[in-house]
Amino acid sequence: MDFLRPGTWEEALAMKAARPDATPIQGGTDVMVEINLDKGRPAALLDLNPVAELAEWSWTGDGAPMLRVGAGVTYARLIAELGGWLPGLAQASRTVGSPQIRNRGTVAGNLGAASPAGDGHPPLLASGALVEAASVRGTRLIPIAEFYLGVKRNALEDDELIRAVHVPPAAGPQYFSKIGTRNAMVIAVCSFAIALRPGERRAGTGIGSAAPTPRRAYAAEEFLAGELDWDGCGPLDPALARRFSELVAEAASPIDDVRGRAAYRRHALGVMARRALGWAWTDHTAGPAGRAPERSGDSG
Ligand SMILES: Cc1cc2nc3c(=O)[nH]c(=O)nc-3n(C[C@H](O)[C@H](O)[C@H](O)COP(=O)(O)OP(=O)(O)OC[C@H]3O[C@@H](n4cnc5c(N)ncnc54)[C@H](O)[C@@H]3O)c2cc1C
Repeated sequence: MDFLRPGTWEEALAMKAARPDATPIQGGTDVMVEINLDKGRPAALLDLNPVAELAEWSWTGDGAPMLRVGAGVTYARLIAELGGWLPGLAQASRTVGSPQIRNRGTVAGNLGAASPAGDGHPPLLASGALVEAASVRGTRLIPIAEFYLGVKRNALEDDELIRAVHVPPAAGPQYFSKIGTRNAMVIAVCSFAIALRPGERRAGTGIGSAAPTPRRAYAAEEFLAGELDWDGCGPLDPALARRFSELVAEAASPIDDVRGRAAYRRHALGVMARRALGWAWTDHTAGPAGRAPERSGDSG
């Protein structure tokens, strides 16, 4: 197995163009497990760790600011440094593996693996993130909902690498919920994320581990946009919450597998959706306390 070690981003792109069969490695928490378990031996490994710029985050976007989270930013740093602006993604990150895994693993690695069960995907879908993919041919921003093509398949071309993920800072309450067989070190049986954007009178959703790819619950989002009393400050209408949960459950196409049955996953999704909407609505009606802090600083 060849081991490629670029020192700069340009070198990384050139190496990937010359060796499209090379497997990128960032935290290695997926790649090394695959190798150790003999689930295929890559012809070459492309180690992105020496590319210092990947470990940085910054603000970007004209008009509507976005956080540009470099592909080398670990879950631990995302929680500590960006949790105030990206509470849904930070909440999901806290459920990933153990402290050791969160110290190495990255959201970009989650995207590279594109497992339907990856915990980063639902909050990225709910927030409307963009994946910054690059090659020697140029750079493109892929809307997150178009990134997932199938089970463990994503929209990257053979010569492309993920450089960063662009995520809008929270414009309202965000929540992530995950069902597992225990509280830590567990792959999701199913998961759900919600991001309210009261200023736009819209809500984003993300479903995990209940379809061949992570996906949004479009009909449920439309329902909330039209039916939530966005200007009101009263409690959530239970009938509305129930209908929302049904629409989320209907958006899934789960399977029976070792982690859970399809019927259980669909039921659990509905419960998580109803609860997450309730938590988000309670925060929204409680006023500005707990809202995302104002933009400041970059990591670099
Ligand atoms: C014990 C254990 C517990 C875990 N628990 C969880 C969990 O609870 N939830 C969860 O979601 N995951 C979990 N995982 C899986 C893993 O930690 C995550 O998927 C993590 O996000 C992978 O990030 P990484 O940086 O380590 O990726 P790597 O292992 O380095 O790479 C993962 C994939 O992404 C590709 N890749 C990496 N960087 C790039 C890039 N810049 N451009 C293009 N492709 C790239 C790699 O080629 C590979 O296909 C667990 C893993 C272990 C070993």
